Formats: sequence, structure tokens, C-alpha cells
Amino acid sequence: MPRALLITCVWLALTAAAGAAEPIVYTLGFADAQNSYVDVEARLPIEGRTELEVMMAVWTPGSYLVREYARHVEQVRAESETGQALQLVKTRKNRWRISALGGASAVVLRYKVYGREMSVRTNWVERDFALINGAPTFVTLADDSGPRPHEIHIRRPEGWSAAHTALPPVEGEADRFRAPDYDTLVDSPILLGSPRTAQFEVGGKPHLLVDDGGGDVWNTEQAAADVQRIIETQQAFWGSVPYDRYTILNVIHEARGGLEHLSSTVVMASRWHQRLRPRYLQWLRLVSHEYFHTWNVKRLRPVELGPFDYERENHTRSLWIAEGVTSYYDALLLHRSGLSTVDEYLGMLSDRVQAVQRTPGRAIRSLELASFDAWIRYYRRDENSVNTDMSYYDKGAAVAWLLDARIRAATRGKKSLDDVMRAAYDRFSGERGFRTEAFYALASEIAGVDLGPWFEAHAGGTDELDYGPALKWLGLRFAPSEEAPDRGWLGIDTAYSGGRLRVAEVLRGGPAWQAGLNPDDELVAIEGYRLGPDLGQRLQQYRPGTRVELLVSRRQRMVTLPVVLGPPPTAPVIEFDPDASKVAVGRRAAWLATPEADPKRSNK
Ligand SMILES: [Zn+2]
Repeated sequence: MPRALLITCVWLALTAAAGAAEPIVYTLGFADAQNSYVDVEARLPIEGRTELEVMMAVWTPGSYLVREYARHVEQVRAESETGQALQLVKTRKNRWRISALGGASAVVLRYKVYGREMSVRTNWVERDFALINGAPTFVTLADDSGPRPHEIHIRRPEGWSAAHTALPPVEGEADRFRAPDYDTLVDSPILLGSPRTAQFEVGGKPHLLVDDGGGDVWNTEQAAADVQRIIETQQAFWGSVPYDRYTILNVIHEARGGLEHLSSTVVMASRWHQRLRPRYLQWLRLVSHEYFHTWNVKRLRPVELGPFDYERENHTRSLWIAEGVTSYYDALLLHRSGLSTVDEYLGMLSDRVQAVQRTPGRAIRSLELASFDAWIRYYRRDENSVNTDMSYYDKGAAVAWLLDARIRAATRGKKSLDDVMRAAYDRFSGERGFRTEAFYALASEIAGVDLGPWFEAHAGGTDELDYGPALKWLGLRFAPSEEAPDRGWLGIDTAYSGGRLRVAEVLRGGPAWQAGLNPDDELVAIEGYRLGPDLGQRLQQYRPGTRVELLVSRRQRMVTLPVVLGPPPTAPVIEFDPDASKVAVGRRAAWLATPEADPKRSNK
């Protein structure tokens, strides 16, 4: 065969094979929604196999913990298309094998999924609405190597007005959606119920805010107007819009959290929070955070985060770039949108710095190690986490701020972290991904200086952060600390319930740590006097440096512990430096991108 013809034939055979992947078709039923169940029927093509193995993901992208979704799956059974029962065995914690297929052309797998965990990475099903996430709901063929379409048909209960998802609808069909592959299916949550919606256009693309549960308390129009400003600012920041339409699924059912997806996000809120300025600001910041992920992590990702292995942990040292840098920009871009005052913005930045400085674990776990260990630590906090962990969100945001200032100083204000993020997106987005060192090298390239040692210290190391240069360059300062409160401090966190004051955390190196007080000790008395729920009030009776006797109950045994009270630590608060030079004031204004930067400016 002539070479050209051979190539054509091979190409035709390959495209025929690629086009041959039949879809898996799921039908979701909600007959048992009032008991928190969704009924799943999956029609699985056989395509010549003698047996089928299906798997369910054990985790969901964006939330780095093995969650064992299969534990909510029950009553699994398989039939041929003609209704004949097929042999089915469980082969792993998250896999099932269907064999003795006979001459069947497809397998119909039926199972029930229990959904009663109100979070952005799990399912919730009840009488009036449901949040369906892909990973905890849909099985797929375990041996698939290429893309296979996954189609969803929804039997929507009569009282529910709509099903919302970023998945494109099957043309002309109500409640039918089609994902081009399993990744997109997992990345496209579905909100079903009777939500209120608001649509608006930014960058020539439609955006839909879907509010479920806000009742007559939550103002959808106001929320949509504010979200639109966030989206406008971020599209201008990145200079591109990488989706056809974007959906914000806002679950207003007294829960918290947010999770980024390819062309959508799920955020959770309390309906009452829109009326409380600090809480509403948190919600806006959450939307800003998840929307920033549309670029940073969903498309510009550490190389280890794709293609995903859905059946085990996917470790990376760069989660701090994915989450910390995003946490820096969520507040900064909210401010550049005009949705926060300067005071509010500096308050949010101060919160990050304070979170770093009050966590003893900052001396133990670097940003890169905290990133790598996310799977075994971040979502599994315990009483000692504060001493041994450092959040890659908080320290990541603080380090991103210092990096931004470092680049601005190195380039005399010509470049910033903004430029690094855009260049990283140009260079590494899509299939390619970035290695941690490649991101650092790119930052050096933009800064025009070798930032290698800087990253080694700030991201790879655990030395104390030096905020001085950033504060100085940006015309800021830590507010002069007022006289230290003249009251004693133990360095513990407590919980009060059932009339008992219990130690929840003991801060490494603090007075209580040195005295040998332990988590779960019940604090009974100080200096022979019974303690009530308010420990802080009692400690006001003693000066720092005073030696007191603590009486604690440790598993019913009374223990006396002498402890020398310390002074309470002061929390750094960032503010405008009144002595900043005119040049520094200009640099500060460029950073905040508010020409009339004025600390008293308010948008309330
Ligand atoms: Zn995030």
C-alpha cells in the first residue's frame, strides 16, 4: 500500500475508533429524595468486552482528601438490557465487576446513593432540592483510556422547577446533559430544586447566578450585580475568558465552603449573611476566590494535578501556588473591583498575616511540605495541628503578597505578581501544567533577578517571614502596638460544654505547654477557685509573670500544675504608613489600583 494511503487508512481507523466510544447514559431519579437518596441507573456499553469493571472516584478534584465515596453506595445490581440479572461482584473498595454477559449489548447498572453531607464536595438530597456532585455519584468504566461521553437524564420531581449545571444540554431535550468525558462530568456539579436565578453578560459570555434557599432574605439581584463586578475585574486581570458560559451555584442553606470547577463553582452561604457586612464581604471574597481558580488551577495547574488518578492521592508541592496565590488575589481583586474599602482590604490582609503569626506550626511545616501533606493533614485537623501544620492558604497568601512586593521592588514598579500569573497562564496552561521549579524560574525571569534563594526560604523553608520590605515598598506599616494588655495568658484554646471547661489546643512553647497541660484536660480551678466558662475573664485577675496553680481533672484524676502566666501575644495590624514618602504612596496606589486611595473611602 502506498505510504500516503496507509497513513490515510490508519488515520481513518483511529478516528473511527475514537468516535466509536459510546456514551455511558445515567438516569437520576429522586423518588426517595425525602430520605436523602438519589437513584442512579447507568447504561454501560459493552463494546466487545467479556466482562465490565466499573469504578467510583475516591476523591474529588479541588478537595485533597480520599473521601471513600463508595461508602454511600448501596443496593448495586446489574441487568442486561432485556432485564436479565447479571453476575456482579465487588473487587475493590470502589470497584465492581459484572461478568457472564452472554450476548448482552449493554449493561444496566442500578444503585442508590445516600446524600446527606452538606458540603461542596459531597451530595445533599432532600425533599425540596439536591446538590449532586460527579465524583460521589457516577461510576465509570475502569479500563477507559480515552475520552468517552457521559450523558445524564434527570427525572425531575414535579415540584422542582429546574436542574442547573455547567454541562451543555442535549439539544432539544429538557433535563438532559452531556459531558464530553468523565473529567468534565466530575467537574460539573448539578443543583436541582426551585432556585432564583439572575443572568448577566461579561466579556460577551453569559453568566448565571443560581440562588437556592435564600427565601425572601437573600437579595439575588444585589448579589448578581456585585458578582458581575468581580467577574469584570478578573477577566480584565487575566485578559481572556476561557469558557462559553459560567454558572455560580449558590447553596444558601446555612452551610459554608466553596469549590472551583471548570466552568462553574459551588459556594455555600447563610441566608442571613448578606445583611451583615463582614459576612457578606466573606461571601464576595469566596466568589472571588473560586472564580480566580477558573484560571489558576482549573487551567493553569501544577503538572501533578492532571490527568487525575481518581483512585488515590495526587501529591504536589505547588498547592500553595494554586490556593495561596488565589487567596492573595481573592481579596485584592475584590478591592480592585471597588467592593471593599481600603480598611476592609487591609483588614483581610492582616487576617492572613495574623493567622501565620499565631500558628506555631509555621516553624515545622514549609509551604511546599504543607502542600504535599494536604492529603493526610489539611482536611484531617486534630488537637495538635496548630503546632505542626501551616495552612498553605494563609501562609501562601502572605508569601504571595511578599512576592508581589519583591517583584515590584526588583523592577522598580514595572512588573508585579500580576505579570507572573499572566505569563504562567500563557506558558503553562492547558495540558502542559507547571513544575514547581518552572514557576519559580518564571517569577525570576519577570523580576529580572534570581529569586531561587527567596523561594527556597519562603516556600521551602520555615524561617520567620520578614514583612518589613513589603510594608516599606507599599507605604504600609504594622500599627504600633498599644500597650500590651496587662493580663495573664496561658496559650491554650478551650471548649465549654456540659458545665466543663476543656482544653482543646495547647500552643507549642506557650506557658501551658511548658507546664505540661494537655488537650482534653478539664480546667477546674486557678489558685483554688472554681472556673466557669469564661477563662479570659479570670486571667484578667493576674499579671503576666505570675505563678499560679492550675487544678485540672485528667481522666477523673485531679492533677495540680504550676504555671507561669505569659503576656498575651500582639496581633500585627497592617495600616497606611502616615510617614510614607510620596513615591511609596504612589506605589501603594498602583498596587491597590485605586487612584484615589483613601483609607476612609467606603462603598457601603
Ligand atoms: Zn481555593
